Amino acid sequence: MAQGPSYAYFQGRIVPIEEAKVSVMTHALNYGTGAFGGVRAYWNDDEQQLFIFRPLDHFKRVLNSAKLLMMDLPHTPESMLAILIDLLRTENYRGIDVYIRPLIYKSSTVIGVRLHDLECDFTMFAQPFGSYIPNEEGSRVTFSAWRRIDDNMIPARGKITGAYANSAFIKTDAALNGFDEALVLDHNGHISEGSAENFFMVRDGVVITPPVTTNILEGITRRTVIQLLRDEMGLPVEVRDIDRTEVFVADEAFFCGTGVQVVAITEVDHRPVGTGKMGPVVRQLRQLYFDLVRGKLPRYREWNVPVYDSQA
Ligand code: PMP
Repeated sequence: MAQGPSYAYFQGRIVPIEEAKVSVMTHALNYGTGAFGGVRAYWNDDEQQLFIFRPLDHFKRVLNSAKLLMMDLPHTPESMLAILIDLLRTENYRGIDVYIRPLIYKSSTVIGVRLHDLECDFTMFAQPFGSYIPNEEGSRVTFSAWRRIDDNMIPARGKITGAYANSAFIKTDAALNGFDEALVLDHNGHISEGSAENFFMVRDGVVITPPVTTNILEGITRRTVIQLLRDEMGLPVEVRDIDRTEVFVADEAFFCGTGVQVVAITEVDHRPVGTGKMGPVVRQLRQLYFDLVRGKLPRYREWNVPVYDSQA
């Protein structure tokens, strides 16, 4: 499963991965001035097809993140999707799920901390990928002692490479203390999100998630999940600030994101969430989500972009 990619899109063409190299002087490497994405493609065995999930939404966000960093490229979500399809066909991934990493970065090799007057470039690679949090039945979570970066420091709505040092601090402390993940508070003490996933909880039949003004990444899975909860499960979804201790009295809680998909939070700081086992809302949502991403929900097929020409 740990197999890496064989190719990358780099400096305008698809090259063997060994040739996709940058200088140690690269601005993005020194100063964290890159904008990236994380996209998944899922194999559908019945159709012998690899479906990319919501790629245009992901590329739009990557381009918006790049815009925050004053990077302007002659690319559109559509042109990036065409490159991705080309790349996945070149890799010829079949029978496996894939994780895709688009990255727009300041490619200038100059010393100088700034955003303006620098060159940028777009690269992308894709590799086989399974689960992100090992225990999909439920995760044990702690509140991080770190705070989420604030919009007035590094905008969290952008997926900016340098900002992921914050996520790395959060994730490492949680992992070294024996937890699967961490919940992070914003500067007002409200729940923001996990180290790399959005947060939801269920209280008395209402599903609640923090607003985009709590320094979250505006997750595409978050948007997807809100739609599934409302339209497929008929549940009310509230977007509002969440206090730390609300989680301790919640009936259910979960993380969602492209990497993590949908994972129940069954314990927070040694307190069980609800029964301490995955609850019915999360269980049903997971089922829907996994059917959706594999192209098994006809109503949402426009989100599933096929890589190969159809056999039919
Ligand atoms: N928050 C953070 C900090 C993330 O890195 C991610 C993963 N991209 C998410 C949330 C989830 O976003 P998405 O559903 O778009 O993958």
